[in-house]
Amino acid sequence: MPSSVANEGYKFQSSRSSPSGSPATVPDDVEVVDEALTLLQLETQTIPQDVAVPARSRAGWQIKGSSLSLNTHNRIRNIVESLKINPNPQKPMIPLSIGDPTTFGNLKAADETMKAVMKSLESGKFNGYAHTQGHEASRQAVAKYSAHQRPNGVIDPSDIMLCSGCSSALEYCILALADRGQNVLVPRPGFCLYYTLAEGLNIEVRYYDLLPEQQWRADLVQLESLIDENTAALLINNPSNPCGSVFDKAHLQELVNICERHYLPIIADEIYEHFVFPGSRHVAVSSLTREVPVLSCGGLTKRFLVPGWRMGWIIVHDDQQRLGTAKSGLKNMCGRILGSNTIIQGALSDILTKTPQSYFDGVIDVLYSNAQLAYNLLKPVLGLKPVMPNGAMYMMVGVCIERFPAFKDDTHFVQELVNEQSVFCLPGSCFEFPGYVRIVLTVPRNMIEEACVRIAEFCEANYKKDNQALIEESLLDDAHVHY
Ligand SMILES: *Cc1c(COP(=O)(O)O)cnc(C)c1O
Repeated sequence: MPSSVANEGYKFQSSRSSPSGSPATVPDDVEVVDEALTLLQLETQTIPQDVAVPARSRAGWQIKGSSLSLNTHNRIRNIVESLKINPNPQKPMIPLSIGDPTTFGNLKAADETMKAVMKSLESGKFNGYAHTQGHEASRQAVAKYSAHQRPNGVIDPSDIMLCSGCSSALEYCILALADRGQNVLVPRPGFCLYYTLAEGLNIEVRYYDLLPEQQWRADLVQLESLIDENTAALLINNPSNPCGSVFDKAHLQELVNICERHYLPIIADEIYEHFVFPGSRHVAVSSLTREVPVLSCGGLTKRFLVPGWRMGWIIVHDDQQRLGTAKSGLKNMCGRILGSNTIIQGALSDILTKTPQSYFDGVIDVLYSNAQLAYNLLKPVLGLKPVMPNGAMYMMVGVCIERFPAFKDDTHFVQELVNEQSVFCLPGSCFEFPGYVRIVLTVPRNMIEEACVRIAEFCEANYKKDNQALIEESLLDDAHVHY
């Protein structure tokens, strides 16, 4: 299905008269669509002449959802809806599950960011359609903002596609590279959208493991064993949701080397680019290679704290022109919804250049101190193993489920935590990683603190020590004495 849609888009494009691949303007598109409609009408009009009695084509109403729509699922929603939740009425609910950082009002978009949109709106210049990849000036702004992603520091605006949020950027990349029956490698634990986008089209997702005890680095041997001739791309999410981990340069280089060896393009979900805590540095994977094509997906959503504005982008890094027809395919994909919203496009240059560094530093401060607070409160709790993040907005906490015999898995643990303590985390199962829960760090500090105190209380109440474990622990304690 993706290829047939892409092919149709391609026919539309090639039937345009514009010779040099210069940006097609909207009136052209409208004409082409009109032409296609006229042809369609002519065709349908000829049918009755060939048939003696106009027969009904079906016996009754038989409307069905398409297989694409019926095979599209939001895993988080499915798992959350299956929980039997009955929060403790004595305690106000603390949702450490909500990924939207604007929910609690403690984290706000910068004034400069909002003023930019006001100016764009008031100019009256951004009410019309843009080029399907986005206005040239807006793409120019993204190119400048993202220059560090290229080894030579230069990005051509024609290699940028503005999309409706980073989600649609990811969708275009996956659909432009993979056909039904092919597979894409995605991280586990990982953001469940990748699966949601692929499954309805019968594109297989294969999970490569991230190792919690190695700061969530990828298991390279296992990753490489997943690659076959049907592997269309490696998806890297750095910094990571849900892990909050940040790959260092050396590890990214190892990933690039694997892709080079197997001729595999990279889809880089870098929506948390720049979103790292003191002591860590984010390296754009595209900056490390001229050999492997990289499609970098980014956007305003997380760094500028405006998820509802739906502004994301794809930056195509392909120095050696290896993407072949996949590049035209990507451009065709942009024609499906005719681009991202133009008011934000009009504001993009100001948003990207005028939002001050002090604003970003302030947001990072809040998240970093929340991370430290939560880590320090949860670390001593028996049965839990928080993993300190280096960036993004989340922390994964290991739950040693054998120590909580009343609960059968992470999902059950989460359910009872809500019911006893009115604290809601997402189970690791939402990210293909049972045995963990994810907490968000964007809630106000006092809520994080209260939530962690309640989690500790909950764990204490449900933790079971067996004799064998006691013996082992005392042995461990003895060992500590020796060091
Ligand atoms: C939030 C998020 C996105 C989606 O961003 P939108 O711009 O809101 O579509 C993509 N990838 C990851 C890992 C995210 O956490």
